[in-house]
Amino acid sequence: MPKKKTGQRKKADKQKERQKGIRSGNTEKPLPERPCNFVMVRFNIIPYGSFSRPNFLPPSQRVGADIEECDQCRRIQKNRAFCYFCAAVQRLPVCAQCGKQKCMAKMGDCVIKHSGQFTTGLGMVGAVCDFCEAWVCHGRKCLTTHACTCPLQDAVCTECQREVWSHGGRVFKCSYCMKFLCEDDQFEHQASCQQLDTESFKCKCASCNRLGQFSCMRCKVCFCDDHVKRKGFKYVRGQPIPCPKCNFDTQETKDMSINSE
Ligand SMILES: [Zn+2]
Ligand SMILES: [Zn+2]
Ligand SMILES: [Zn+2]
Ligand SMILES: [Zn+2]
Ligand SMILES: [Zn+2]
Ligand SMILES: [Zn+2]
Ligand SMILES: [Zn+2]
Ligand SMILES: [Zn+2]
Repeated sequence: MPKKKTGQRKKADKQKERQKGIRSGNTEKPLPERPCNFVMVRFNIIPYGSFSRPNFLPPSQRVGADIEECDQCRRIQKNRAFCYFCAAVQRLPVCAQCGKQKCMAKMGDCVIKHSGQFTTGLGMVGAVCDFCEAWVCHGRKCLTTHACTCPLQDAVCTECQREVWSHGGRVFKCSYCMKFLCEDDQFEHQASCQQLDTESFKCKCASCNRLGQFSCMRCKVCFCDDHVKRKGFKYVRGQPIPCPKCNFDTQETKDMSINSE
């Protein structure tokens, strides 16, 4: 085989691997564990002497007494620089990237030096993220990486079409179609999203009358085992077949519940 081809092949394989990672979402922490999607914290009552308590756990796993609301209007909401309801500045910023609430100068890569002193509040922040509306701390790494990796970049609720700036709550992803959901819509959407209508159980291919054995929960359509496959696409044994329309992993229709109404 000529040399040129092997190099190209290698490149293509690498890219495929990367795309697979992106598609399956395995490379990232789930949304509820991302600091920019934490609940806003008003006070964090830390017992004296335990400053090192990690604060970057999801709210449900945190110990100690966090009061999770705006300190002005007392309404509960997602971590954000300014209260969604009354626009007050968050007193106790939590970095959208690393989740810290307190900067320990010694180990930091701080763009503002505060040698020997802890800093919290506005002394710890460097920017507000345009996507998630939360503070980013003054650490160089957080400032340079957060905006490009913010998990709420295109977080528009698939039900009500509101983005992060148009509702106060946290953002969720549907566990069936993996689309974004706001706090208000998450349960109702997921209840209906796990079902397919009986009429969509036929293979999506127009000329085909067979039952679709593979279904895409994102497009809400099924494909028979012939039409789920694309020409020239390499399938990996033991891995779910990607939807020919949207590339989302399909699942076998028999594993799903059927809405027969
Ligand atoms: Zn408020
Ligand atoms: Zn940070
Ligand atoms: Zn610092
Ligand atoms: Zn962000
Ligand atoms: Zn919504
Ligand atoms: Zn869904
Ligand atoms: Zn078919
Ligand atoms: Zn699809």
